[in-house]
Amino acid sequence: MSSVASEQIPDSAGRFGPYGGRYVPETLVHPLQQLEEEYFRAQQDPEFQQELDYYLREFCGRPTPLYFAQRLTEDLGGAKIYLKREDLLHTGAHKINNAMGQILLAKRMGKTRIIAETGAGQHGVATATVAAMFGLECVVYMGAHDCERQRLNVYRMRMLGAEVVPVEAGQKTLKEAVNEAMRDWVTNVRSTHYILGTAYGAHPYPVMVRNFHRVIGEEARRQIMEQQEQLPDLLVACVGGGSNAIGLFYPFIGDESVSMVGVEAGGEGIVPEKHAARFQGGSLGVLQGTRSYLLQDEDGQIQSTHSVSAGLDYAAVGPEHAWLRDQGRAEYTYATDDKALEAFFKLSKLEGIVPALESSHAVAEVIVRAPHMSSDQIIICNLSGRGDKDVQQVAQKVDL
Ligand SMILES: *Cc1c(COP(=O)(O)O)cnc(C)c1O
Repeated sequence: MSSVASEQIPDSAGRFGPYGGRYVPETLVHPLQQLEEEYFRAQQDPEFQQELDYYLREFCGRPTPLYFAQRLTEDLGGAKIYLKREDLLHTGAHKINNAMGQILLAKRMGKTRIIAETGAGQHGVATATVAAMFGLECVVYMGAHDCERQRLNVYRMRMLGAEVVPVEAGQKTLKEAVNEAMRDWVTNVRSTHYILGTAYGAHPYPVMVRNFHRVIGEEARRQIMEQQEQLPDLLVACVGGGSNAIGLFYPFIGDESVSMVGVEAGGEGIVPEKHAARFQGGSLGVLQGTRSYLLQDEDGQIQSTHSVSAGLDYAAVGPEHAWLRDQGRAEYTYATDDKALEAFFKLSKLEGIVPALESSHAVAEVIVRAPHMSSDQIIICNLSGRGDKDVQQVAQKVDL
């Protein structure tokens, strides 16, 4: 197990064992190399870290509480459940940790223009927010279909001064938005930084995005030691691209007594095109710059996916998760739409906390596991975002 935390992961080419790497057109190789150099230089620079800490604290609202969910714990009758409250961050989710880190890096590199992809709009909103705060031009690519489904977030981004470009290609969703953002980046790389929104894509994105989110796990570790003087027994987080989960997991990787479970979107069940659980029915392939588990057909065509939560609805998973799974260091399961919805209501009613539908997948797994654990054991569940954005969608599905 010690090999998991060894210095060579990822290696200098960004490979986590057979996963990760940099599979891009030639025109993107140089920009990625430059980004890699600048990022690792910034990471070593105490001034950069100080500036990042300042904005995370004063603008984003860190540290977030590690909150003991007493009524949920009593209701489930097992392990003590703690919630890492990323839902309390500015803009309502963990995504701003990464957006803030990358925009500071962009400024340091002298870039004046920011681009991003977004699916449901959460990463787009976080990026538009930090771009507004620093006065940088911002263009967000979003599938035309997603623009229609998430009109409010389109409006929010435009309010913040961003240009939102609907992408009409293909299925008109996240995958096509990423393609458009990469195309823009190639053309405008001298002025432009591409803020990718999850622990995915070509090296150095997976390792860089993970490092901008590891503050989640670092805080949680310190907080649980202060509150309980013991390490947690289990960490639970939902996995879309994998950024909130790896942010929580990473600082605990060396603690062998701490188990970790990532929860993917089981949608309507594990049937092709009805879910987004890449570790159930996915296979190894290359998509959008990296090698990982994908939902693809026999010809390597990317399958369409489904989840009630837009943030988990993507055909590929971050390479570090594939690696942790191979090592047996983390395990991966899924929650269906129905179970996520049940968890959404349960947490709302028992704790007065409305979780994002994405985070509700993690809560659903806590509901499964906590009753089988003893009362001196501890679960930390990452509440990656708040559910305000989902209320309208849930109201259409469930009558109260
Ligand atoms: C985007 C999003 C996710 C999924 O992304 P990861 O990179 O897997 O963390 C999860 N929760 C919320 C609230 C999100 O907005």
